[in-house]
Amino acid sequence: MIRTRFAPSPTGYLHIGGARTALYCWAFAKKHGGTFVLRVEDTDRERSTEASVRAILDGMQWLGLDYEGPYFQMQRLDRYRALADQLLASGHAYPCYATRDELDAMREQQRARNEKPRYDGRWRPENAQRAGLKPPAGAQPVIRFRNPDAGEVTWHDVIKGPITIANSELDDLVILRADGIPTYNFGVVVDDIDMQMTHVIRGDDHVNNTPRQINIYHALGQPLPLFGHVPMILGQDGERLSKRHGAVSVMQYLEEGYLPEALVNYLARLGWSHGDNEKFSCEKLVEWFDFEHVSRSPARFDPDKLRWLNQQYIKEADNERLAALALPFLQRDGCTVERGAPLASVVGLLKERVSTIEELADAAVYFYRELEPSEALRQQHYVAGIKPALEELQMRLAGVEWNRAHINEAVKSVVAGHKLKMPKLAMPLRVMVTGEAQTPSIDATLELIGREQVLARMKKQLQSFPV
Ligand code: GLU
Repeated sequence: MIRTRFAPSPTGYLHIGGARTALYCWAFAKKHGGTFVLRVEDTDRERSTEASVRAILDGMQWLGLDYEGPYFQMQRLDRYRALADQLLASGHAYPCYATRDELDAMREQQRARNEKPRYDGRWRPENAQRAGLKPPAGAQPVIRFRNPDAGEVTWHDVIKGPITIANSELDDLVILRADGIPTYNFGVVVDDIDMQMTHVIRGDDHVNNTPRQINIYHALGQPLPLFGHVPMILGQDGERLSKRHGAVSVMQYLEEGYLPEALVNYLARLGWSHGDNEKFSCEKLVEWFDFEHVSRSPARFDPDKLRWLNQQYIKEADNERLAALALPFLQRDGCTVERGAPLASVVGLLKERVSTIEELADAAVYFYRELEPSEALRQQHYVAGIKPALEELQMRLAGVEWNRAHINEAVKSVVAGHKLKMPKLAMPLRVMVTGEAQTPSIDATLELIGREQVLARMKKQLQSFPV
């Protein structure tokens, strides 16, 4: 039975890199009828926040990643203590009383000798005894894992292939702090054992932690899961993706008007491929996903491609759904949507032309409130000589049956009667009524804006028209 997990630390927003790893783990578990677990690694008491836990849960929900859990490490302290005791009893761990100052001084000396700073094992029982060290009265020790001195650790990474790291590279790491809170490398092993993970998949910033964790599995006498390390996401400039490249928080994409299926599709494809497929549903991802096709090199984040995908999904999306998504943006923009055209019809007219819901809402504003045309547009389109034709159109529009076909007929007959070319009339009309030069077809646009508004806006604009 496949079991995978996502184990974020709630110390900020949900990063899209984390979301991508979560997505891969989720898709893999789904594909094999297994279980995907969410575990919140909240042991960093200073940096963990409730708001960040919320952002993780909201982000997972928005992306549609369902899970078993969430589990919280801070609710499992007894378990870490119990397994640390087991390691103490079997001689794989020992208490260390070295103070921070002492450890700083040790590292200072190592650096001075051009050595890599590492814990020197001074509280290993045999060393402490030889040096005559005695536990200071009343001091709470940390627990250190006794890493093997010799040999090497090898695993077959499901993404990167075989990786070997020598034990001489590793030192005796702290597994339990004096306050009983586990360090990352210990908490993660205890949890991955207890939660029966078959695959531990995470960002490749953790490659160096994996041999330490493997040694702990061995010391606990537990079988290993498979490990896989997903390469990082880089910005366009090749630097690790960060805020200065744009939005990196999942929820920010919601706020900017992306559809979750577009972000899921984009993240899935970013660093994994299935043939030439660029646009695919979540169901297809689940059907196709494997670790063999996760790229071994870092992926570059391409905001334009994400926008393109979002545009494709917006085009296909149901109008009622788009209307509900656009509504808060319009309300923020001061539009009273209830009093104007049905929003679903408006978004139906506009959705081919936008890349985000925010753009969709921006494009819909003139259906709900008057937008004053810019001086440049007026100068360009409010040309002398066209006023009589517009006045005639105004009169006709006051009388026609208010639907697209009749509006179109009225425009055409005025164009013909004044021997104009269509744009000569349609452009100023458009600018007068919408404040913009680009809109969907003018008849459909006017129909939705409504007769009363159209005539009022025309009247107002005609007053400032050159003769
Ligand atoms: N809490 C760790 C992180 O956010 C989890 C790494 C792992 O999946 O083991 O980086």
